[in-house]
Formats: sequence, C-alpha cells, structure tokens
Amino acid sequence: MRSRKGFTLIELMIVIAIIGILAAIAIPNFRKARQQARQKACFANQRVIMGAIEMYNMDTNAMMDSYGDAEETSLINGKYLKSKIVPAEANCAITGSNLIKEGIVECSVHGSPENPKNLDGA
Ligand SMILES: [Zn+2]
Repeated sequence: MRSRKGFTLIELMIVIAIIGILAAIAIPNFRKARQQARQKACFANQRVIMGAIEMYNMDTNAMMDSYGDAEETSLINGKYLKSKIVPAEANCAITGSNLIKEGIVECSVHGSPENPKNLDGA
C-alpha cells in the first residue's frame, strides 16, 4: 500500500463546496441583521430627539411643530441635546413636518418605530 500525503482533488473539492454552501446560507443573514441593527439605531436616535423636543416644549411652553437642522441646533443650544445626532446610516435623514398632529419624527430611509420601512428590497 502506497503512503498518502495531503488530500486528493475530490476531497478538496468537497470541502470547498461545503464551505461555499455554508457561506451562501450565512451571508444574506448577516446583511439582514446589519440592516435591522442600523434601523434600530435610527429608531433610538428618533426617541432621543422626541424626548428632547418634549423637554423643549415643556420648558418654553410652546410646541415645536417641525424638526430639521435649525431645530436640532436650537435643541443643542438649549442643552436639550448634548450634540448633533450621529446618523445610523450615511443617507439617514430624520425629519418631522407635523409634530403637533403626528407626534413623531421620521427617517426617510428607516421610517419610524410606529411605521417602520421594510428594508428587504434595499
Ligand atoms: Zn434612518
């Protein structure tokens, strides 16, 4: 019987095929988990903003009706926010256009916790 060194081609091909199948199963799951994590981070940002707006409203006895860059600056100046909100994703844009009626701020990419956007297509 001859002594064998290393693997045969068939053995290597089977191992590579198994690794490929496992990767094909795992990679979409990683992507989905990453998207969901970013969406949750965005919702956390939105909750922080809503808390700051509520404190601002109580202190100034006025209702902030929209949220954008100018409102963020006045929340920071009033020390209701510690610093500018770091977006969860580069194209994240949290705005609120009708806060008195709707009571929520919303992200153009992720939606809001009450009305999350489905990210499967992205
Ligand atoms: Zn977002």
